[in-house]
Amino acid sequence: MEQKWIGTQIVLNHITNDSLHRNDYLKKKLAAAKEFLDLDALIICSDLNKKNLDLVREICRDFKIKTYLWYPVLADVPAFKIEQEQAVETFDGLHGYGKNGSWDKLGEGEEDFLFLCPNDEEYIRRIFDHYQNKIIESGFDGVFLDRIRFPSPSNGFETFFSCFCGYCQNKFHSTYSEDLENYRYQAKAVFEKLKTMDISYLRTCQSLSDMIIQGNLEKFYDFREQNIFQVVKIFADKAKQMGKLVGVDLFAPSLASLVSQDYRLLAKICDWIKPMIYGHTSGPAGLPLELYCFMRAILNMNPALDEGQFIQEISRILGVDLPNQLNDLLKHGVSEKIVCCEMQRIKELDLAENVKIYLGLEAVQIPGVCNITAKILKKYLESVIEADVKGMVLSWDLLKIPDENLKIVGDFLSKRQY
Ligand SMILES: [Zn+2]
Repeated sequence: MEQKWIGTQIVLNHITNDSLHRNDYLKKKLAAAKEFLDLDALIICSDLNKKNLDLVREICRDFKIKTYLWYPVLADVPAFKIEQEQAVETFDGLHGYGKNGSWDKLGEGEEDFLFLCPNDEEYIRRIFDHYQNKIIESGFDGVFLDRIRFPSPSNGFETFFSCFCGYCQNKFHSTYSEDLENYRYQAKAVFEKLKTMDISYLRTCQSLSDMIIQGNLEKFYDFREQNIFQVVKIFADKAKQMGKLVGVDLFAPSLASLVSQDYRLLAKICDWIKPMIYGHTSGPAGLPLELYCFMRAILNMNPALDEGQFIQEISRILGVDLPNQLNDLLKHGVSEKIVCCEMQRIKELDLAENVKIYLGLEAVQIPGVCNITAKILKKYLESVIEADVKGMVLSWDLLKIPDENLKIVGDFLSKRQY
């Protein structure tokens, strides 16, 4: 069997000079990753100064590990703090967060998940300038673009129907010679329909987006996908011009259309894609939280809908069993078989051959967010083998991945190789 490409991510924010140098903190962790996994790449999110970035790069070079600048493009950007009123505008005039089904921890942590509009030229220009400088300053081998999407279910249901800002109105009009205002009414109509949606209708849905993107809204959603593609292209093309590799962080295929990430479009402009197939993360992008928020919102709007039957239909659409009760989804997560199901969906897209798919595999232990035990990891790895992936990115922070987990992955892969 061909040797798999292995990358991992690391968050080096608020790390003092002292702790970076003390006990060779980083060096020891990377040495373990190199020993157990023969690590190929490290994707680095950091607020370190140039001197310390150089140090990180040197350590990686000594271990023959490629370095990537992990850069969030539309939310939680390093260039400036995004205020709520700057974020995307929903059909009903909210900004950034909706009300229905939104995650109760939104805005509490260090990440706000407030998404800027991809058409907002002024902010995008500021972010792009910062990004260019950061590429030069870091001297890394590649860039890894994150937060390249519209808000997800965990931001609240209303945000599915964004953005209606002035930039979007102008762009929509110049693209389609049609008024974006008309789509506010379409969005309201979908809300009304969801309130009375019954189980026989759900049985006709083949994807989550079948419930949301109905009728004329298809054009609105095409527009959103184009908007994301265009902004990512600007960032990706610049990096390529500068001789860098480009990786992108995408939602699992089942969720991607809800946030307007089109794998086929995005595959054309990057070297590799990391699908975040997170079955145990109770945070944005994690299937448990996103599915929970999605279903919670619909059940709130439509109390006549039977929770158990609804979960069953979602489970049919995803192709894996889900817990019978919504609250258990956050507790127990989604079956590890989801890796195989979602990877199959990617295969069916028949993406260009030159783009690689490196599975985003959870490996962290972060209390209250994601706790990948040896047992879970082994089940995941069975599914990884079945899916026959070319490589993977152990997600999403090496400093939170126990050495035991690194070793399990390494042992598993080497056993399969010989
Ligand atoms: Zn907009």
